Amino acid sequence: MTDQPSKVTFPNGRTVPALGQGTWRMGEAGADRAAEIRSLNFGLDLGLSLIDTAEMYANGGSEEVVGEAIATRRAEAFLVSKVLPSNASRDKTIRACENSLRRLKVDQIDLYLLHWRGNHPLEDTVAAFEQLKTDGKIAAWGVSNFDLEDMEELADLPAGGNVATDQVLYNLSRRGIEYDLLPSAAERSLPIMAYSPLDEGRLLSHPTLATIGDELGATPAQVALAFVLSRPGVIAIPKTGSRDRVKENHAALSLTLTPAHHAALDAAFPPPTTKRPLEMI
Ligand code: NAP
Repeated sequence: MTDQPSKVTFPNGRTVPALGQGTWRMGEAGADRAAEIRSLNFGLDLGLSLIDTAEMYANGGSEEVVGEAIATRRAEAFLVSKVLPSNASRDKTIRACENSLRRLKVDQIDLYLLHWRGNHPLEDTVAAFEQLKTDGKIAAWGVSNFDLEDMEELADLPAGGNVATDQVLYNLSRRGIEYDLLPSAAERSLPIMAYSPLDEGRLLSHPTLATIGDELGATPAQVALAFVLSRPGVIAIPKTGSRDRVKENHAALSLTLTPAHHAALDAAFPPPTTKRPLEMI
């Protein structure tokens, strides 16, 4: 799974930096599209190849921004997109993926996820994912917001073992997955994608992050990201529409927290000691 620090390898052998780029709220009306494209491109310049989007984000507007950002540099990007649960029937998944490909202006999505579990039978979605893979429209598929029980159900389905990731809410104030989902994924060498690694910005004013940041010459955001990045096999996908913050977040890849820092973080954000149901944003 993780063959070197700060990189993560998917089951199909593709390796990405453990820090990617989120795009929720990009492409919305009134957003600064040019700045968003600039920041995604700057992230690519720094080697942050994984870009996470979804058909849901800005009703496809986020995928269009990503498509524009990578237009002349497709090979440098590792694209992740997601099908909405309401579209996750066997036929509609195929159409949803084709629409995403059109908005992204690419021939293939590197990793295509079910955004969260809905009412369509999981085996139908998996069958559609496998079809998309056979047709070359996606290179791999995965899920999002699946708790351990959902993952176990998935593993028992035909081709369910081909799942390439589970993208879940994970950050210092949402540590529930450390109890069961994260160890189980590690055992299976399954990468986990941590969304909202800054807890949508809420973590940034926490005094413990400021104290540790002062000691390390780092910002609270970098400390929050370094915590997530310290977990083997976990990919953090913070979102920012600002080049300066892309640079700041990128530097978290080379920030090492000491055991004393981890102890201080554990005191401020206690790890789970019993099962906590998976949280979602
Ligand atoms: P997040 O990355 O934890 O936080 C994003 C917020 O933090 C934005 O307001 C951003 O503002 C700000 N920010 C980023 N870097 C910063 C820095 N260095 N200093 C200060 N503020 C900073 O939250 P998120 O966007 O919810 O999650 C990240 C990505 O995960 C999403 O974009 C999306 O791709 C994915 N996601 C997936 C799911 C799912 O169900 N699968 C759910 C939620 C999110 P600026 O843009 O103004 O910098």
